[in-house]
Amino acid sequence: MTIPKALSFVVALTLVAGCHQSPRARNVILFIGDAGGIPTLHAASIHGHRQPQALFIQRMPHLALMDTSPADGWVTDSAAGMSAIMTGQKTDNGVISQSADAVRGEVDGRVLQTILEHAEERGLSTGVITNMSITDATPAACYAHANDRRDTGRIFAQLASPRFGDGPDIVVGAGRTRVLEATAALGIDIQAELRKKGYELLDSPGGLRRGQRRVIALTDNPEFDPVTVLEHAIDTLSQNHKGYFLMVEWDMHTNELERGLNRSLTMDSLVRRAASRASRDTLIVFTADHSFDIRVRGGKRDEPLVQDALPTSDGGDGAQAAKPGQRYVRMDNGHTGEQVLAAAQGPGAERVRGFIQNTDLFLIIMGAYGWN
Ligand SMILES: [Zn+2]
Repeated sequence: MTIPKALSFVVALTLVAGCHQSPRARNVILFIGDAGGIPTLHAASIHGHRQPQALFIQRMPHLALMDTSPADGWVTDSAAGMSAIMTGQKTDNGVISQSADAVRGEVDGRVLQTILEHAEERGLSTGVITNMSITDATPAACYAHANDRRDTGRIFAQLASPRFGDGPDIVVGAGRTRVLEATAALGIDIQAELRKKGYELLDSPGGLRRGQRRVIALTDNPEFDPVTVLEHAIDTLSQNHKGYFLMVEWDMHTNELERGLNRSLTMDSLVRRAASRASRDTLIVFTADHSFDIRVRGGKRDEPLVQDALPTSDGGDGAQAAKPGQRYVRMDNGHTGEQVLAAAQGPGAERVRGFIQNTDLFLIIMGAYGWN
């Protein structure tokens, strides 16, 4: 073989390899089930469908087991957990998208740029939806930087002073009264500041309408209809030809067992809805910021999973499970450190596999956009 022929063979191989590179994601929707670990998904499936593995999330094509540990320990809170996913760097519990040399409540760490801020910087549209307070750790880690998650007023005020781009385009969340009071206590007229930045302000997600370019809807009622909000966000954000990044958090804490499992089923229906509504060039990821101490310890196929404990006189194990709904499910109200599920579909989803770190999810999403 002459040298030119060998070279052309190499070139041809390279071209073939190039053709098989997976297409990029134009959009990413990141679903965070807060405290929605594998035990919660398992219980929710049995609670809602009377069988295991019946959730949409449990049928997504690409799965990984994700470590959620923070920089300073083994069990994370939402602040360090979400900061790791959003910035690719582990930090300490209580810290919002700042480096681990932050001292909680005292000294700021380095600002760590979030996926949402990378998207903003590149001209994509962005959104944050949550049924928790809009300044709670998970949504805050998308748009704010703080050395203490409890710094409610300063966290919310950062919506009006984004470090990258012009801030999220659609913001929907709870905690309205508390958030507005906290910013007012700092002497900030946050509603005036946000209007100056072009935001339309709503006191309920029910006021979302087509054509609102930048909108913040805050409510005091966390039980709003998330499917309508999700559909509205997808329709609005997808008008940007450059693409979008949307984070949707739904609370899956099961400290109130039946409510938590019902909310987990709501989250599952949201992921299913996004998969049918979003365009094919959308990477859809579901994961949890951390797991939660809930276990299915018994139950029968023809009985509801959530039942009150048996009276202790019947010889059952009710004495140890006297909490509401905990005959077959035990819940010890706390976060746990075992791996959570990361499930994905769409461009870039094939990298969601094996045992990964929460920080790897940042790299996977950035890579899916082509922003290595
Ligand atoms: Zn959490």
